[in-house]
Amino acid sequence: MWEFDTEVSEVIQRTPSVKSFRFPIRAKGVRYRSGQFFYITINTGNGTLEHHFSFSSSPTEKGHIEFTKRITSSKFSQTLAKMQPGARVHVKGPEGDFTLSRKFSQLAFLSGGIGITPLRSMLRYVVDKKLPYDIVMLYGNSSVEEIAFREELKAVSAAHNGVSVEHVLSGPNIPEGWKGKTGLINKDLVAELAPDYMKRLFYISGPPRMVLALEEQVVQLGVPETQIKKDKFIGYE
Ligand SMILES: Cc1cc2nc3c(=O)[nH]c(=O)nc-3n(C[C@H](O)[C@H](O)[C@H](O)COP(=O)(O)OP(=O)(O)OC[C@H]3O[C@@H](n4cnc5c(N)ncnc54)[C@H](O)[C@@H]3O)c2cc1C
Repeated sequence: MWEFDTEVSEVIQRTPSVKSFRFPIRAKGVRYRSGQFFYITINTGNGTLEHHFSFSSSPTEKGHIEFTKRITSSKFSQTLAKMQPGARVHVKGPEGDFTLSRKFSQLAFLSGGIGITPLRSMLRYVVDKKLPYDIVMLYGNSSVEEIAFREELKAVSAAHNGVSVEHVLSGPNIPEGWKGKTGLINKDLVAELAPDYMKRLFYISGPPRMVLALEEQVVQLGVPETQIKKDKFIGYE
């Protein structure tokens, strides 16, 4: 376990409602595995608040750690949204076992919206380390504008034979000429895009209700629970 004081070094607007926050690593021996999470304490001006977040950064990205959050109307979100580079925070971590498997090389990543964060961390790691995983990702969003890391996901799937990313738009604002999938991620879509699903280890991440819904679809296909890893973002809904 490590912990240290640091400051915001960069704020990146990922979508109209999602921002990434980066923090320089200000201690020795700071290690984590992609897919894990860490705790952050911020000062609201009226006391402190702590939340935990998946790393959206990968350990291959040196010098900083990053998390990515949907900005809501909560006090925590609103304080974060106003934070500028230089704002002091405290971080500690890492925790969690939503990490890359040593046993399975065929994986399926399912998520929607903000649930992308630990999956982005793992994808970045796999690509940077040129690891021989075969990954099919299905990523659901309401609109094209709300797809976080869109350009990066495009570049990653183009550059790495073992990675395919399919965007699924639920609408209502589906652009004319959209060639991708529409609706919600369901078992038929999983079976179509990953026909070898029985051989895959599934990673499902995001708000609890979404994780449950996606898990049900995968279970209906006959995939055993032992082949489903879940990361529930408690605090949403
Ligand atoms: C393992 C893990 C990884 C996560 N990763 C991400 C991520 O990458 N990006 C992201 O945006 N969010 C992530 N979350 C959720 C995050 O911790 C916040 O709970 C969420 O962002 C909601 O915060 P808020 O500011 O919108 O609302 P808030 O008003 O701060 O929270 C909404 C309600 O949930 C309660 N709550 C908040 N956090 C928790 C908690 N951790 N456990 C129990 N109750 C809680 C609050 O008391 C409040 O009642 C993760 C959660 C977990 C458990």
